[in-house]
Amino acid sequence: MDFTSLAVLSGLPDHDPHHAVGVPIYATAAYGFENLEDGAYKFATNQGYTYTRIQNPTVAALEARVAALEGALGAVCLASGQAASFAALLALVRAGDEVVASPGLFGGTVGLLNQVLGLMGVRVHYVAPEVEAVQAVLQEKTRAVFVEVLGNPSLELPDLFGLAELCEARGVALVVDNTFGAVGALARPLELGAHVVTHSLTKWASGHGSILGGAVLSRESTIWQNYAQFTTPDAQGRIPWEQFGPRCFLERVRHLGLALGGMVLSPFNAYLLFQGLETVALRIERACQTALALAQWLQTQPQVVWVRYPGLPTDPAYPRASRYLRGHFGSILTFGLQGGLEGASRFMAGLRILQAPNVGDARTLAVHPWSTTHGRLPEAARLAAGVKPEMIRLSVGLESPQDLQQMLAEGLSKVEQVGV
Ligand SMILES: *Cc1c(COP(=O)(O)O)cnc(C)c1O
Repeated sequence: MDFTSLAVLSGLPDHDPHHAVGVPIYATAAYGFENLEDGAYKFATNQGYTYTRIQNPTVAALEARVAALEGALGAVCLASGQAASFAALLALVRAGDEVVASPGLFGGTVGLLNQVLGLMGVRVHYVAPEVEAVQAVLQEKTRAVFVEVLGNPSLELPDLFGLAELCEARGVALVVDNTFGAVGALARPLELGAHVVTHSLTKWASGHGSILGGAVLSRESTIWQNYAQFTTPDAQGRIPWEQFGPRCFLERVRHLGLALGGMVLSPFNAYLLFQGLETVALRIERACQTALALAQWLQTQPQVVWVRYPGLPTDPAYPRASRYLRGHFGSILTFGLQGGLEGASRFMAGLRILQAPNVGDARTLAVHPWSTTHGRLPEAARLAAGVKPEMIRLSVGLESPQDLQQMLAEGLSKVEQVGV
């Protein structure tokens, strides 16, 4: 089935006693057992429902839908994108292991790697998401290569095909944070060779900037045979690879992230995300068209020094974006203003577009990454992440392109006063 059909048909309940057409919200902490044996079986196998920290039917419906949209073997949904990255990494690494990560990762992910996994004795190498650079630091102890499908705000794409091939050959999981891939509407990294995909569902899945959520997905793969945690007995004496096959990774994510870590997605939020996904393809298509039109228009404005949008044929990211993205080029664009930091400040002061750090909202949001999302990093690290003092990031929403152009023009008119 096509993406747009799966977006509205996948994950719907097929055993609902009332034949509900939509997905019901199961607001329950626990589930009853028929008898002692039923309880024992469900606890031992995780088949069926026991307690909502581990599984919930509304969350399960969302997991089925997210997996269908990404062409995944399965999904585990969690409380936030941070929870998803954390749980995915917990399932992959042990003390003494190493992770290779791209320096342009989302700030929360860098903090997670340095400050949380660092406490657990995991070492991180930050190198460009290119085959040669990754190869140079890859070792026996490397258990994950972590990249983002589209750098934020650098808007660079990693060498996904090359990295997938390298990781497969070396028995290391390639993890792609596909938040900017809009749950498969824009990119499906599992089909390009990634072993694991993580998501902040807070962004394009929610689509309305209203709630948080996250997901971890994986595909059919034998790579887990290279991991001690899947080929040696677990706490219950089972060998996960023998017990679960390719699903062993997701089982570990659920066990560590949810059953033990408690990073649980509320069924109410799962319901909203389930609904948000029904329109993600329409929203992304519209927002991408507007983003392209605005990028082209910004290029013609005298106060704008440069524009980055992967859908501009002159953009350095265009060749990879054409191969990896599914016909659209995303709803994020960045541009640089004359006058550096001062120009950016004047632009934002004169701008009626909402100023907030989120992306994927129905409303267009502008942010100055240098002073906000990346403001705590040393200058060199900001520059390495592709952030510049004159840069504005725009997450394009669903307003009319004409209104947005008008609002941008108002901001730009203030920039001209620099140096006057
Ligand atoms: C927002 C974001 C996250 C974190 O997600 P939350 O839902 O805010 O916890 C992770 N990765 C990327 C690329 C993001 O944009």
